[in-house]
Amino acid sequence: AKENGGGNYRFFTEEMNRQALHRMQMESHLRKAIGNNELLLYYQPFVDRASRIVGMEALIRWHHPELGLILPADFIRITEDTGIIVPVGRWVLATACNQVRAWHDMGFDTPFVSVNISARQLQESDFEQTVLQAIDESGLPPACLNLEVTESSMIQNPEACIAKMQHLRSRGVRFSIDDFGTGYSSLSYLKRFPIDALKIDRSFVSDLMKSKGDQEIVKTIISMARNLNIDAVAEGVETQAQMEFLIRCGCDTMQGYLFARPLPAEQFADLLERQKHR
Ligand code: C2E
Ligand code: CA
Ligand code: CA
Ligand code: CA
Repeated sequence: AKENGGGNYRFFTEEMNRQALHRMQMESHLRKAIGNNELLLYYQPFVDRASRIVGMEALIRWHHPELGLILPADFIRITEDTGIIVPVGRWVLATACNQVRAWHDMGFDTPFVSVNISARQLQESDFEQTVLQAIDESGLPPACLNLEVTESSMIQNPEACIAKMQHLRSRGVRFSIDDFGTGYSSLSYLKRFPIDALKIDRSFVSDLMKSKGDQEIVKTIISMARNLNIDAVAEGVETQAQMEFLIRCGCDTMQGYLFARPLPAEQFADLLERQKHR
């Protein structure tokens, strides 16, 4: 048993070394990813009750020269831990604003783009400047930009966050709470944050038709949003039954594979083009 334990230990450290090496390689690659034009944004629509596109979320992808397309689950954490998220986040904001402005110029009236913001970005002292710079340089109307933040990233330094959010909101920028329901916000806490929408976490939507508990949670979040006079947005809608349930509960805005997967900009433009003729 002892030998076995030793063997396991050796295997364990080798595994750790392998992982550490992998992480270091990823990190050094990521530092060059912006300059090498390896980052790109996909866009996933938000739709209204009639399934018409009312906006879209920008979702980052990394096109690695050897590994191919990498999803955020496999690299965002590293960018956050190393601070690389700060320049990456700046790139995301600028790219999303420029893209939507370009779509406006092409005659697509896409009301807004939603951009994910990491805790680390929100805490940067020049966060507001970064956002305003992306808006000003693109010429996108500020009301067309929505920022998605999580409960946990706001709770780290609530007063400073509220001040930053209020400043940006006074310029027209909107905010939503992402993955809502997975954190620990109380209703009174929530009231203090200048928020325009709650995004119901996908985990509650995916089991909606099987779980009475999730149905109750979803109904509660939607009525909570109504009481706060803000929007409720459901993410991860995959079936007609889920959509119908959400509409019955009073949810106005939905997102999920039922409507469209995240798409590269050109394909998203095709979607917008088709909608014009609907
Ligand atoms: P999120 O913000 O909660 O985004 C929703 C995720 O669910 C996306 O995964 C999306 O592709 C996926 N999704 C959408 N509809 C469905 C559906 O119907 N079913 C299922 N199973 N999944 C669906 P993605 O693009 O891999 O992004 C994962 C996470 O990475 C995001 O979660 C977000 O937290 C983070 N992320 C993505 N882009 C950025 C970014 O530009 N900056 C930052 N800081 N984080 C980002
Ligand atoms: Ca999001
Ligand atoms: Ca989410
Ligand atoms: Ca999430």
